[in-house]
Amino acid sequence: MSFELIKQIPEPAEIKNQYPIPKGFEEKKKAFDEEVKEIITGESDKVLVVIGPCSADNEDAVLDYTQRLRGVQDKVYDKLLLIPRVYTNKPRTTGTGYKGMLHQPDPEKASDLLSGLIAIRNMHIHVMESTGFMTADEMLYPENAWYLDDVLSYIAVGARSVENQQHRLVASGFDVPVGMKNPTSGDFSVMLNSVVAAQSHQSFMYRNWEVKTPGNPLTHTIIRGAVNKHGQNIPNYHYEDLIRLYKMYMDRELANPAVIIDSNHSNSGKQYKEQIRIVKEALHSRRGSDDIKRIVKGFMIESYIEPGCQKVGNGVYGQSITDPCLGWEDTERLLLEMAELI
Ligand code: PEP
Ligand code: MN
Repeated sequence: MSFELIKQIPEPAEIKNQYPIPKGFEEKKKAFDEEVKEIITGESDKVLVVIGPCSADNEDAVLDYTQRLRGVQDKVYDKLLLIPRVYTNKPRTTGTGYKGMLHQPDPEKASDLLSGLIAIRNMHIHVMESTGFMTADEMLYPENAWYLDDVLSYIAVGARSVENQQHRLVASGFDVPVGMKNPTSGDFSVMLNSVVAAQSHQSFMYRNWEVKTPGNPLTHTIIRGAVNKHGQNIPNYHYEDLIRLYKMYMDRELANPAVIIDSNHSNSGKQYKEQIRIVKEALHSRRGSDDIKRIVKGFMIESYIEPGCQKVGNGVYGQSITDPCLGWEDTERLLLEMAELI
């Protein structure tokens, strides 16, 4: 192999010791995790909303954004539980371009993974400290999960990773909910197979250990739309899709049948404003069917301060440099409306 060894990265325990969770926050996280768990298990009727920018590229803007979310959370507390999307590594469709703060703590500078690792751990902690929210991230690289498992309250496995063995095995060892996205092909059975694997106990090799996990009963599904062989987007948030998923869930013996509807990506065709209509339509479907209500536990929404997206280097504060997002005004209005519709 022609790998050039650049730098040895300290072990997870070392990084966690150097950048610990602030005093008092371990208990707060436990309480938050319990609230999230109760939604997935159905003990709570609240709707989970995983919301934030496609990529958390700038800590100042992310803190500003999540502080705004805090203000809304306090108004909709009886209906919604918000979890900020603080996505620190991005799967790129072609493997090139901005790969997230993990790779580039400054999107305009060269890649620096150790600084990136510290920057992302700190950003999750800073959101926790300044807003009281616990955060969500995507597990793009399973081997890095050990650097963040103590700070995350929600983990997603992306459309391009959901068929991967190591992602499924590592998910089986988390104590918090892991959402398995449908693959870009849209096949629900692939997504459900991934849930079966992650809900099962497993033994495997992880970093330099042979490990055993108990299985994670909070593993569930996320539907994000699909792409057909002509490259067209095929949404999968409609009433019929939700009924089909309900039936597929009922045919399998899975713990906690649950789905989160991702309103952007191939569901909106990245027409980010459509997220408003998509979320409202799904809430309407939820009201029209007890079966749908039983499985639809929440939403994933891509939202930031400024609407749309920009190229890296353009310099608009609080605007996405990956997928286009709803802007703040639309976000606030949508969350308040969602609370009314539940
Ligand atoms: C995302 O959530 O930004 C993302 C890349 O999702 P997906 O894996 O569904 O494409
Ligand atoms: Mn995205």
